[in-house]
Amino acid sequence: MSHSLVTMSYIVATILFILSLSGLSNQETARKGNYYGMMGMAIAIIATTLSGSVTSYVVLIVAMLIGGSIGYRAASKVAMTQMPELVAIMHSLVGMAAVVVGYANFLDTHSGLMGVEKTIHELEIYIGILIGAVTFSGSVIAFCKLSERISGKPLLLPARHWLNLTVLISVVLLGYFFLNFGHADAEYFRVCETGTHNCTEVGYSPIALIILFIMTFFALLFGVHMVMAIGGADMPVVVSMLNSYSGWAAAATGFMLNNDLLIVTGALVGSSGAILSYIMCRAMNRHFLSVIAGGFGTASGGEAAAIEGEVQPIEAEETASVLLAAKNIIIIPGYGMAVAQAQHTVYEITKLLRDKGKKVGFGIHPVAGRMPGHMNVLLAEAKVPYDIVFEMDEINEDWGKVDVSIVIGANDIVNPSAITDPNSPIAGMPVLECWKGETTIVLKRSMASGYAGVGNPLFVMDNTRMLFGDANVTMQAVLKALRG
Ligand code: NDP
Repeated sequence: MSHSLVTMSYIVATILFILSLSGLSNQETARKGNYYGMMGMAIAIIATTLSGSVTSYVVLIVAMLIGGSIGYRAASKVAMTQMPELVAIMHSLVGMAAVVVGYANFLDTHSGLMGVEKTIHELEIYIGILIGAVTFSGSVIAFCKLSERISGKPLLLPARHWLNLTVLISVVLLGYFFLNFGHADAEYFRVCETGTHNCTEVGYSPIALIILFIMTFFALLFGVHMVMAIGGADMPVVVSMLNSYSGWAAAATGFMLNNDLLIVTGALVGSSGAILSYIMCRAMNRHFLSVIAGGFGTASGGEAAAIEGEVQPIEAEETASVLLAAKNIIIIPGYGMAVAQAQHTVYEITKLLRDKGKKVGFGIHPVAGRMPGHMNVLLAEAKVPYDIVFEMDEINEDWGKVDVSIVIGANDIVNPSAITDPNSPIAGMPVLECWKGETTIVLKRSMASGYAGVGNPLFVMDNTRMLFGDANVTMQAVLKALRG
């Protein structure tokens, strides 16, 4: 493939990626956005494969087959509830790729670069490995936290901010030494077998390699510490932040490999991830830097208030009667709806109630579920019309007019202690204030806490009723009662 054709293909792929991102920003165009992304990626792979930069097609095909089949198997087997974990582990692979490409570039003695160009190339290598290693270890910890392999509670080392600062300063200093020792230029370092004249010429400084190893270790440590220090309810910010890091890691890889498309694509992912992190922080009333520095999601000194009061259970038949007596109903889906896969039954109930002249809407909290947009995806899958799905800010104005709200497997996102208890680990996080409506019915299996591990006073309020059981089973019972 000629150089100009490759460039043309890269431009087309870039445009498709931009169209994909803009498509994904809206539920109605999200499917189209996915198709644009797939087309862009197919063009990118074909153009790169035929660009003449491939040294062994056998290796390439074997690698693509292995990678492709792992990806295919993972994507077809993954349950909707495990999607965030899959995304996290995929981010870790991008980070690992940046590290491996960085080392391969450093060890490659054929670059032929000299002087300033070599220094720039080595800076790219250093930054690429740095971002890649942070992304890798941070994503692995995020994966373990999201899949509950390790506790979601923040790990707060006594001098954690000093530890972060020390790592930062060390990485900058190591970078300085790396650039000054890493200049092999014309002078090759010689490695000889002891006692013989058998010498091999290698084009890199062993000292620089050791510096790279130390920096990689620090970067891995920083990634682990950064994510370990983040409390349960702040995980959404971490997920989107690691998404952003993986983009920057890909961009750094693009610089190392001299691949314009990879640079552009990485920058697109990096910046959109950064914007998403900012949006998530705003939604959770957090400062981005404070979340990264860690320690959020922990009590701010005093003890969180204990939850006291009496739980008032309700059965499916009575729930149906309450719904039939209501005019204005709001449904609040949460992670439990994804676990129970109750979205289809919920929509059946919605249709039935709307046919009976009730006003029914869905209230979506920005961090409901386990990944950004989780609830929107579930509702779209069940074909819930977009015009009855509202964001938290739209709903929070109108609770006074709501007769019944049904909370389906949600917990942290409807926890009043976020507003009332300054010592609560989720203090300050905006929540859906459903208790301001006339009656709230909460569907869950037990009195267990949600992701942030915080007790919820909503469950014992006077105007709250608890419908215990798997959300799909209880919703089906309610549907049956409504039909009956
Ligand atoms: P929560 O995790 O707070 O609560 C979910 C509730 O669902 C649990 O209390 C559980 O109670 C219930 N549940 C689980 N399975 C079922 C089932 N089969 N049927 C009925 N109920 C069930 O979820 P929310 O959506 O309220 O809040 C999301 C939380 O996750 C926030 O803390 C957020 O910060 C965090 N998070 C969000 C991410 C995102 O990007 N959106 C990413 C990472 C974390 P029980 O066991 O008693 O049934």
